[in-house]
Amino acid sequence: MDKIIFHIDVNSAYLSWSALEKLYNGSDTDLRVIPAIIGGDMAKRHGVVLAKSIPAKSYGVTTGEPIVNALRKCPNLTIEPPDHKLYSLRSKELMALLYDICPDIEQVSVDECYMDYTPIRRQYTSPEAAAHMIKEQIKEKLGFTVNIGISDRKVLAKMASDFRKPNLVHTLYSYEIEEKM
Ligand SMILES: [Mg+2]
Repeated sequence: MDKIIFHIDVNSAYLSWSALEKLYNGSDTDLRVIPAIIGGDMAKRHGVVLAKSIPAKSYGVTTGEPIVNALRKCPNLTIEPPDHKLYSLRSKELMALLYDICPDIEQVSVDECYMDYTPIRRQYTSPEAAAHMIKEQIKEKLGFTVNIGISDRKVLAKMASDFRKPNLVHTLYSYEIEEKM
């Protein structure tokens, strides 16, 4: 049987992680449900959008664009500076949780990794069932959502995790390319 690979990707990682941290610290605003971005210095109005909330996205705000542009599209945008120390901590927690499920993990960025499902396949009824279980466990234990892409090839698993977001599982097996792409 072919290998099965998961690509696990945190939805708007910087935004989600900063949002959760503010809530833990007593804020009553959840950055995930208002037009908000993570980006450079608001006072100086420089820097680029590093991550955006779904409401910000609906104003046409895109990751990588200058903050001045984003503010033109959405003048009431909340801008939060990045906290890389926090992100690295959340990243470690996520990878530790995933490692407990299956140690065959290859981390590719602060919020993304591949997991080889093949060695744990007997524990689950299907790859999709396993992916949903993993996704729910992350949400329950760590408080944020991920997308999981499933495929027989890494590059396709990564493409699948980028299909509709957030909080979803998608497959893109080699034999599904024509149908899904
Ligand atoms: Mg991500």
